[in-house]
Amino acid sequence: MSFNVTAVRQDFPALSQSVNNHPLVYLDSAASAQKPLQVVERESEFTLHQYAAVHRGIHTLSANATTMMEEVRQKAANFIHAASSEEIVFVKGTTEAINLVANSFGRQYLHEGDNIIITQMEHHANIVPWFMLSESIGFEIRVLPVSDCGKLETGKLNDLIDERTRLLSFTHISNVLGTVNPVQDIIKHARAIAVSKKNTQLKVLIDGAQGAMHQQVNVQTLDCDFYAFSGHKLYGPTGIGILYGKKALLDAMPPWEGGGAMIRQVSLTKGITFADAPWRFEAGTPNVSAIIGLGAAFDYLTALGVEDAFAHEANVMAYASEKLKDVPSIILYGNDQREGVLAFNLGQHHAYDVGSFLDQYGIAIRTGHHCALPLMERYNVPAMCRASVGIYTTKEEIDSLFNALQRVKKLLG
Ligand code: PLP
Repeated sequence: MSFNVTAVRQDFPALSQSVNNHPLVYLDSAASAQKPLQVVERESEFTLHQYAAVHRGIHTLSANATTMMEEVRQKAANFIHAASSEEIVFVKGTTEAINLVANSFGRQYLHEGDNIIITQMEHHANIVPWFMLSESIGFEIRVLPVSDCGKLETGKLNDLIDERTRLLSFTHISNVLGTVNPVQDIIKHARAIAVSKKNTQLKVLIDGAQGAMHQQVNVQTLDCDFYAFSGHKLYGPTGIGILYGKKALLDAMPPWEGGGAMIRQVSLTKGITFADAPWRFEAGTPNVSAIIGLGAAFDYLTALGVEDAFAHEANVMAYASEKLKDVPSIILYGNDQREGVLAFNLGQHHAYDVGSFLDQYGIAIRTGHHCALPLMERYNVPAMCRASVGIYTTKEEIDSLFNALQRVKKLLG
């Protein structure tokens, strides 16, 4: 493997600091990844020297900024192997992407008596928008359960899908269990069940917030209708993300927010017509600096070699899964095939106590419900600790976590 993690770490200045007199061990990339110099410098160069509002002016700066923004749309399409840049909508992040689908696709296509399917391992971002929408429309929300070992019980899809199922919306990788769902197989299986029940209207949304940062995504092979992910988890800026949607579907969907830049014509007497997709979904002045930064993140990962980078992470995570088993009284959630994140509890100690002690050793993990309360309920715990890895994480950092957990266990008893 040509991947050189020591060299990669040089690109992330945040990683070389000390926290509480210990070298920082950053194990919270699933919440938000650190940023490489290449992203920050590109964003700052754009903001300082090339900045202008896009899609409005005929002056040179504006025209150039518009070209650069549209180039990033193409980079995003390339990154997830979309057929066209017109299938890429710029959004604030995964949360906004799912809200867009709910309020545009959902309001148009879901009716009282219909049903949609989500799963027990969803982040609140893929739960709450659907419950909010169902309050006003009255469709049913069905839930695919999670097994004890953290897998989706896909065998139950046959019972859940019927002739009125309009959407299956699920996560690529669980942000708690690290389970990598076999997205392509699930979609194939679900579509076949739907067709066997004379239902040709089933659409599929994939929450790729954790997926795009650990897996090479090919939306055409997956055959999903929507795929959503956030820039900040992919070493890019905050406040920017991507919604992929199949072109024909986006073309048929109404806008969800009104304002500038998303119209073709506005007349106070003759009414309003809207721009084509994807611009129809991008009302207002976009976060163009962040878009440019996201483009730099795609460039950075591509230059590094995503395959090698993701293989490195998988290797570190496999090491962590084995190593942490030896911490006395640790409970690991999910199964050994986890990617990106490892959730655990230390006996009956509250995750906040464990996380606070680890912080004293400079180790940053996530504690709490991870915006996945239904999954906490499923495992009957109020909270979990979660260590997550990025392309810069080393096995030595996992050793530091292991050693610190042994000490914390002794301290807490
Ligand atoms: N979905 C999953 C699986 C996540 O892990 C997250 C964030 O942690 C989100 C959705 C929401 O992403 P964002 O806050 O960037 O919109």
